[in-house]
Amino acid sequence: VKSNNLLSFQEFDEPFSKNIYFKKKVSEFIKEALSNDEFYLNYMPIYDTKNLEIKAFEVLLRCSSESMKGTGPDVFIPIAEEYNLIRVIDLWVIESTFKNIKNNYDFLMKTPVVFCINISSEELKNPLFKKNLVRLLDEYEIPPEWIELELTETSFVEIDQKSIDVLSEIRTLGVNLSLDDFGTGYISFNQLINYPVNNLKIDKSFVDLLETENESGEMIVRAILSMADSYELHTIAEGVETAEQYAYLLELGCHYVQGYLLSKPLSWPLAKALLIEPNTE
Ligand code: C2E
Ligand code: CA
Ligand code: CA
Ligand code: CA
Repeated sequence: VKSNNLLSFQEFDEPFSKNIYFKKKVSEFIKEALSNDEFYLNYMPIYDTKNLEIKAFEVLLRCSSESMKGTGPDVFIPIAEEYNLIRVIDLWVIESTFKNIKNNYDFLMKTPVVFCINISSEELKNPLFKKNLVRLLDEYEIPPEWIELELTETSFVEIDQKSIDVLSEIRTLGVNLSLDDFGTGYISFNQLINYPVNNLKIDKSFVDLLETENESGEMIVRAILSMADSYELHTIAEGVETAEQYAYLLELGCHYVQGYLLSKPLSWPLAKALLIEPNTE
């Protein structure tokens, strides 16, 4: 395919995103975007259900390059993993988040908020990951409690003891760890005790089930929340789009929520403005 814009690939059916030529092209665009500094970050507010205050931002990667138009992280992150580009990206996201925190240090001292950074499961096999994290925390003088790393449930499926130990060491630093996309990776409830995580993110697919006509949705979410409670994990529901879903989550005792109902991912200036002037609607 000759076109230089990924949109032209997307006219093909869904399986084309798994096509080797498409993936190769995307991997080249990722390298270009890295060297041209075309990646940037968005911040998605995570709200405390007790008082609707912002307790955290999930950091989400974006690319401004024309050639990546229409291609989000749900597509390019798995390709970055396959083409050995993910370690560079994860490091870039961590360092850029830390830079932003350092630039806003005085403001954030007065308005504390946690930054939740998505980390690829690849990092569990990366012997340098913890070392890099410690170095960057030190270099940018970041209070570790301001940072939360999100690891998807599927990363834990084949985890070995060595990786669990590294995660425990990271927790010991004071960095928070959350189990992302919970409910999608077939971890049994009693396995949870083995993982040094302090937060659990309920996947959007379960939040989607929360509607009056669907009693099983309520039952599943209730079960996840009570299980999380017995392991003393805080719960975050993602993908909350309707007032009805929010009302359910509040009633069922979910601690935190994020979703388009409350806010979309924002540029840093807009995210910061929300912290100063909370939504009064
Ligand atoms: P995720 O970690 O599950 O992130 C949540 C995704 O759901 C984000 O999409 C977010 O914009 C979207 N979302 C949140 N609330 C709603 C809602 O109410 N409705 C709908 N329809 N969507 C909602 P995004 O930014 O496209 O990210 C997709 C995935 O890409 C993420 O899923 C994460 O796995 C990965 N990703 C994003 N940024 C990074 C990053 O910096 N590093 C790594 N390693 N992965 C990243
Ligand atoms: Ca996430
Ligand atoms: Ca998630
Ligand atoms: Ca998800």
